[in-house]
Amino acid sequence: MITFPKSIEAAASSPGQRRAGGTDVQELRHLGIRSDDLVDLRDCPGLDRFEQAEDGLHLGAGISLTRIAQDAAVKEQYPALAEAAGGLATPQIRNRASLAGSLLQEVRCWYYRHPDQQCAKKGGAVCLARQGDHLYHSCFDTGVCVAPHPSTMAAALWAYDALVELDDASLLDIPTLLGDGTDPRRTHHLAPGRLVVAVHLPPPPPKGELAAYGRAISRARAEWPLAELVVRLGLDKKGEKIDWARLVMGGVANRPLRLSVLEEALVGQPPTDETFARLAPMAIEGAKPLPMTGYKLRIIPGLVREQLLRAMEGAA
Ligand SMILES: Cc1cc2nc3c(=O)[nH]c(=O)nc-3n(C[C@H](O)[C@H](O)[C@H](O)COP(=O)(O)OP(=O)(O)OC[C@H]3O[C@@H](n4cnc5c(N)ncnc54)[C@H](O)[C@@H]3O)c2cc1C
Repeated sequence: MITFPKSIEAAASSPGQRRAGGTDVQELRHLGIRSDDLVDLRDCPGLDRFEQAEDGLHLGAGISLTRIAQDAAVKEQYPALAEAAGGLATPQIRNRASLAGSLLQEVRCWYYRHPDQQCAKKGGAVCLARQGDHLYHSCFDTGVCVAPHPSTMAAALWAYDALVELDDASLLDIPTLLGDGTDPRRTHHLAPGRLVVAVHLPPPPPKGELAAYGRAISRARAEWPLAELVVRLGLDKKGEKIDWARLVMGGVANRPLRLSVLEEALVGQPPTDETFARLAPMAIEGAKPLPMTGYKLRIIPGLVREQLLRAMEGAA
């Protein structure tokens, strides 16, 4: 059965799987992984809200990734978020895909998506990728399931300290929404039945920021990344030292990773290529690659250095 609720209250109280853009939901149904009732959010008012509020920018859960990528206010105030939204998937997917759907999509693991395979995410005893083909999977071991977290927007929104607003008006930060990766059955920790209504972005830093988003990818487009990185930097008044840094990496663990140790090491350093080249290898500290994912450890330092340099291009 499919319903088209006409209010947030009705959508929240309708049993079944929510469908926004449907780009992931439909594939899972097609593959026979999901077959529950559908709650289509097409007619639900308020999910397309785009509001400059006192506490920052509120983006409705149903706003498309294309709009986020192209909106002038997002580009100016949250540049790496706009770049991330515009850099994933394909133009067709970005036109259809919603902000909430992009956060709550399922992993792309071929074992999970195979109708006949009972992996740990589907309640099976083991992670089949861990024992089998995991070429595109994690190189940080953060839990039983080794499929990388699929959401580029989760990494970008975490880098901007975004909060997710639910239908009961509660707010979740991104790490809470995603969980710590230890429960293989949960790609996110949204309580069953809850509806995401909007995402709140805090006001941009008063002195501005330098930012970049980039990915290492196995083909030019239409692919999830081998590794991806959101970088935000603030410089001191003279532009000679890094005042603060925020780096969140995706594609390498079953949840995005905040690179706190590298962030701390960057603070107080001159924002030069010498600094970036020297410190970038810190991004792989704590990595524990699988037999087939060691190559990612060779990619990550280059990606980090490249995106730090790209962020600095904004200072020129
Ligand atoms: C070739 C290709 C490449 C891709 N590359 C990337 C990539 O690099 N990075 C990336 O992040 N993604 C990538 N994607 C995935 C794409 O971004 C997602 O499929 C899309 O963002 C999902 O959004 P949607 O609105 O279609 O979600 P849907 O398919 O409608 O829903 C996805 C999930 O979110 C839930 N949901 C949706 N809205 C709500 C709500 N308001 N409240 C509660 N639950 C809700 C649904 O129930 C479902 O569980 C790629 C896809 C393709 C086909």
